[in-house]
Amino acid sequence: MDYAFPPEPVVTLSAMSSKPFPVRRIYCIARNYADHAIEMGGDPEREEPCFFTKPATAILPNNSATPAVMPYPSATQNLHPEVELVVAMLLGGSNIPQDKANDYIFGYAVGLDMTRRDLQAAAKAKGQPWDMAKGFDFSAPCSAITPEFYTGVIARGKIELKVNGEVRQSGDVGDMIWKIPEIINRLSNLVELCPGDLIFTGTPAGVGPVVKGDKIEAMVQGLDPLTVTIG
Ligand code: MN
Repeated sequence: MDYAFPPEPVVTLSAMSSKPFPVRRIYCIARNYADHAIEMGGDPEREEPCFFTKPATAILPNNSATPAVMPYPSATQNLHPEVELVVAMLLGGSNIPQDKANDYIFGYAVGLDMTRRDLQAAAKAKGQPWDMAKGFDFSAPCSAITPEFYTGVIARGKIELKVNGEVRQSGDVGDMIWKIPEIINRLSNLVELCPGDLIFTGTPAGVGPVVKGDKIEAMVQGLDPLTVTIG
């Protein structure tokens, strides 16, 4: 196929002994831990899940051998990392039933939903979309994927974020308001999920700003950790 210009290569994440994982789309769920919903001024009660997206090109890949550097983005004075368990989809489908949803998962990773919090607050105040607060360049640092073969189904486990060695966020992925099979079911009712899609599953309480030079360490029990320096 001849194109008007050479297309960019597919965005990939490494996946341990498996071949590289081609990323298709990135979906994220908002306010999925009650303590974080409260700190953001929301309702800890279970509301219908709120989804948003980032472009696949927002991925900043990372593996333990080469920690990533994220350039401090433009247009913000309040950049926040949100540590999240990331689900990588192996199979696609619409209306995926909850009791089958785990069979569609390729594996898991640790991600950062980087957020221009000041732009998000302004968008919320005006009832505008969050795209420029959430979907900017390098806004999705992500670890290597650990295939489900190694981890089994992840339903609980420690999730933590440190900045310059100090714990900022600490929780358990078992405390998600919407559990992973419910997220896959609800999201696949809205869009046809596809192999290669990533789902960022929300963040626990303790979000706050980072500045140039900060070292962010993000972990979920049993997965390859993620280290990002703000450059
Ligand atoms: Mn988030």
